[in-house]
Amino acid sequence: MKNFYVLTLFPEMIEATLSHSITGRAIREKIINVEAVNIRDFTEDKHRHVDDYPYGGGAGMVMQPQPIYDAYKSIEERAGKCRVLYMSPQGKRFDQKMAEELSGEDSIIFLCGHYEGVDERIIEEIVTDEVSIGDFVLTGGELAAVTIIDTVSRLVPGVLNKEESYENESFSDGLLEYPQYTRPPEFMGRTVPDILLSGHHANIDKWRREQSIVRTYNKRPDLLVKAELTDKDKIFLDRLKEER
Ligand code: SAM
Repeated sequence: MKNFYVLTLFPEMIEATLSHSITGRAIREKIINVEAVNIRDFTEDKHRHVDDYPYGGGAGMVMQPQPIYDAYKSIEERAGKCRVLYMSPQGKRFDQKMAEELSGEDSIIFLCGHYEGVDERIIEEIVTDEVSIGDFVLTGGELAAVTIIDTVSRLVPGVLNKEESYENESFSDGLLEYPQYTRPPEFMGRTVPDILLSGHHANIDKWRREQSIVRTYNKRPDLLVKAELTDKDKIFLDRLKEER
């Protein structure tokens, strides 16, 4: 079982998000374990404060290191040493490649900041990776942590069933996924491409591969530089470029 531990001031945000749909099923089937640990439970402050004013002045509050450290230790005692990811807009940008790499870990601890963030010394003491989900600033790290847990969970064997396979999905081979259609065959005068109704699997596969290349070329041409392309793909792409 893969363990995700989340150090947070808002454990409900983690539970509410991941206890549904595919991740919820994986938790119930004990394929993954998600445990939100409330940092506030570890404060030694009689008013249960976990933050204080920043030294040197400035706006906002900073999360103090002691409750975070003790919360972390409570996990380490059970899980042993594992990677500790601090959710931070200053971190390395999360992507599918990082998700694949993280899916190899048995246990991961996420540290979610709030307010102005956490005291720098806790980052130095326990954090192994700083990870960002994009160049924007959230109010807290919880949405970033659940985004990463959701993405990594889908790669854990047994989490997705056969129908939900991620094999041809966007980014799996550096390309975006081909367009998808379901019933009805006609909607608002728009029909499903004939080939998908032909039942000819080899032709369908070829069409989908080409559509993936067309989509990536149109929407995210930057991805094509690193995409895994066969010789046939490259010939198709060259033709596509010539046509445009
Ligand atoms: N003062 C910090 C700064 O300028 O770098 C931003 C603090 S932010 C308001 C509060 C918390 O939200 C951060 O400690 C972090 O845990 C989380 N957070 C905000 N944006 C994030 C992002 N893009 N990716 C991951 N976590 C983020």
